[in-house]
Amino acid sequence: MTTADIGRAVPFATCEIIPEARAAALAVLESGWVTTGPRTAQFEHQLARWVGAEHAVAVSSCTAAIELSLRALRLPAGSPVLSPTLTFCGAVHAIVHAGLRPVLVDVDEATLTLRPRDVASAAERSGARAMVVQHMAGYPAPVAELAAAAGLDPAHVVEDAAHGLGAAAGPDPVGSAPGATCFSFYATKNLPIGEGGAVTTADPELADLLRQSRQHGMSRDAWRRYHPGSGWRYSVEVDGMKANFTDLQAAIGSAQLTRLEGWQARRAELADRYDAALRDVPGLTPPPRPVTGRHAWHLYVLRVGPGYRLTRDALAAALAERGVGTSVHFIPVHHFPYFRALLGAPHLPVADQVFDGLLSLPLHPALADADVDHVCALITDLGRRGGSP
Ligand SMILES: *Cc1c(COP(=O)(O)O)cnc(C)c1O
Repeated sequence: MTTADIGRAVPFATCEIIPEARAAALAVLESGWVTTGPRTAQFEHQLARWVGAEHAVAVSSCTAAIELSLRALRLPAGSPVLSPTLTFCGAVHAIVHAGLRPVLVDVDEATLTLRPRDVASAAERSGARAMVVQHMAGYPAPVAELAAAAGLDPAHVVEDAAHGLGAAAGPDPVGSAPGATCFSFYATKNLPIGEGGAVTTADPELADLLRQSRQHGMSRDAWRRYHPGSGWRYSVEVDGMKANFTDLQAAIGSAQLTRLEGWQARRAELADRYDAALRDVPGLTPPPRPVTGRHAWHLYVLRVGPGYRLTRDALAAALAERGVGTSVHFIPVHHFPYFRALLGAPHLPVADQVFDGLLSLPLHPALADADVDHVCALITDLGRRGGSP
């Protein structure tokens, strides 16, 4: 190892909960009401405003958000639903749990999001009734174009925007669409709360339905029923799950939201810094930029090609040995035994081919410029020496 190798651990991800969020959480704990209540409603308004959406409904996770959004379509059991194979397994479990059948689709070689021609042929073959579109790494997928290619009503497209908070497709912020857009507040996501999710939509009826279905299909929230002077009676008129969001999460989320714009700007700066340092390293390809709109920079997915001296796995191991955390997004869903048993072994050659070169580098607002410079120096150096000297 050279001197550049020594010191400076760079974690793949950290979860920054700001002091105001900690204080707000404590105040909720002391307030006598910790579950879904007025703070959840307040967080929903703030999130909707930040995103540029009409309505936001906070739920327990993005996975639950996708399941609830698909259930809200009331499709016949077993209806085919398109999903990219290069996504998080939870998004595909959500399709199964909604009683529907996932149809895995290949992705674009450069953007790693769905391609119109693939969804067109998959829709025709399967008779798809809905589609889940994922904004991979924060790159805004062309949702309207994909819906048209699949021959689907845009209301039957559920956006998995776990990576997409802060992205925009052309002039339209991700989350402003008429249908359901699902966000995650998991510990490593762009707005970390720890756990949690939300659906944004322009459809007030969908928002109302989701507010009921997130809480057992009950017509009135518990906090309204327990409010002094209000009655105990409620009704159950729709199918529901236990997927509510708590005021404790909401208090943390409202405080964290005040920092999100700055965090997004910092992510973009760090991505630019990686690009500049890695652009000329033989065999490496920085992630693509959208021609219009805005990238959310949830992940910085480097592509390690055959022109680099190490394989992706060898590079990840060498970086880990030097204290630098990396990850891979994603193992294609059709590689997992559970999904192969359920769906067979679909032919998805682009995902198979790109998978071996995907490497997500550390990208979070707490990173210093010097952290990125250190990671890039290691990668450049390892590329020259091929690992051990
Ligand atoms: C994190 C993630 C999810 C799941 O989010 P949870 O809030 O943990 O349920 C779904 N899809 C993608 C692409 C993700 O990265």
